Order: sequence, then structure tokens, then C-alpha cells
Amino acid sequence: MAFPPRVLESWSSTTDKFFGEGFVLTGNVTEFLDPIFSSGVTLATVSSQLAAHLVIRKLKGDTIDWNKEYTEQMMQGINTFRSYVMAWYDGTLDTIFFSEKQDNAIKNKICSVLAGYVWDTTNLYVKDHSTALQKLARLIELEKKYSTKEE
Ligand SMILES: Cc1cc2nc3c(=O)[nH]c(=O)nc-3n(C[C@H](O)[C@H](O)[C@H](O)COP(=O)(O)OP(=O)(O)OC[C@H]3O[C@@H](n4cnc5c(N)ncnc54)[C@H](O)[C@@H]3O)c2cc1C
Repeated sequence: MAFPPRVLESWSSTTDKFFGEGFVLTGNVTEFLDPIFSSGVTLATVSSQLAAHLVIRKLKGDTIDWNKEYTEQMMQGINTFRSYVMAWYDGTLDTIFFSEKQDNAIKNKICSVLAGYVWDTTNLYVKDHSTALQKLARLIELEKKYSTKEE
């Protein structure tokens, strides 16, 4: 049966509070990102493991700074994934993926992020996730522009 095209929007959802008295949220219920780069299982397992370790420490009597030790840690990974999802939709990643000139060192770093290593802040493409892709895409575009002018 033919039907008009339908649009599904707002795939992502989040919550203001990741923890509270007697509970900690993990996985999808904490933050559901557009699953374009398979972030769901990584975020679910990493958040559950991190939360479980903190709960064990809390039950042993430790004082836990949940904002610093949980929310901030999770946001580091979530925000990195989000930068890549946005860069996918705005075309930045297309420019990088389909560039004629490929730099293997950069490629490895970006593949590492897409493989889920979004907490590895020794990787520039994690540490500067909000700007690094745009800078690289801009450089590729400039190189392309000037190489076509020279021909
Ligand atoms: C079609 C599809 C394909 C996907 N492909 C990928 C992929 O390739 N790679 C990837 O990384 N991610 C993928 N995802 C996303 C990934 O599956 C989820 O992000 C991940 O499973 C989230 O895990 P979770 O434990 O937080 O939530 P869930 O796996 O949704 O688990 C939540 C559990 O809580 C139970 N529950 C809900 N309410 C209650 C309640 N009131 N009381 C008791 N139990 C309750 C539910 O029954 C469920 O078992 C995909 C998702 C879908 C739908």
C-alpha cells in the first residue's frame, strides 16, 4: 500500500539527573543518542560498569562525588559521540572519509573513536572532539581548492 513519506525526528533523548538518593541511571535511560555509530552498547556497558564500581565503594562507606566521578565521566563519552553524530549529518565526516588524500595516523585516531574509545583523551580526536573534525575538513577543502587552481 502506498503512503506519503513519514519523518521520524528527535531520536536522541537525555535527562538532567544521572543519579539521586538510592539510584543511578545507566545506558539508554541516561542518554539515548542517534545510534549511527553504534554508541548504544558501549554507553550501556561502560556506564553500568562505572556505576557498579561506585555503588560498591558507596556500600563500603566511601564518599562519592557522583557529579565528578559519574556524570562528568559519562558526559565526556556522550559528548564525543555526539560530535561525531553531528559531523555525520552536517557533511563534515563525508569530506574527511572521501578525501582523496588520506593520512593513516589521523584515520587511525578517527577509527579509534568510532570503535568506541571515546574516553581516550590522549587521542586529539577525542580531546578536541568539538573542533578537530571541522578543522580537518576545512583543511581538506582548502587543499582541494588550491590544488584545483594550480592545475
Ligand atoms: C534495532 C536496534 C538496533 C540497534 N543496533 C545497535 C548497534 O548495532 N550497536 C549499538 O551499540 N547499539 C545498537 N542499538 C542500541 C542498543 O541496543 C541500546 O542502546 C542498548 O541496548 C541500551 O541498553 P540498556 O541496557 O540501557 O537498555 P535496554 O537494552 O533497552 O534494556 C532496558 C531493560 O529494562 C527493562 N525495563 C524497562 N522498563 C522497566 C521497568 N519499569 N521495570 C523493569 N524492567 C524494565 C526492559 O524490558 C529492558 O530489558 C540498537 C537498538 C535497536 C532498537
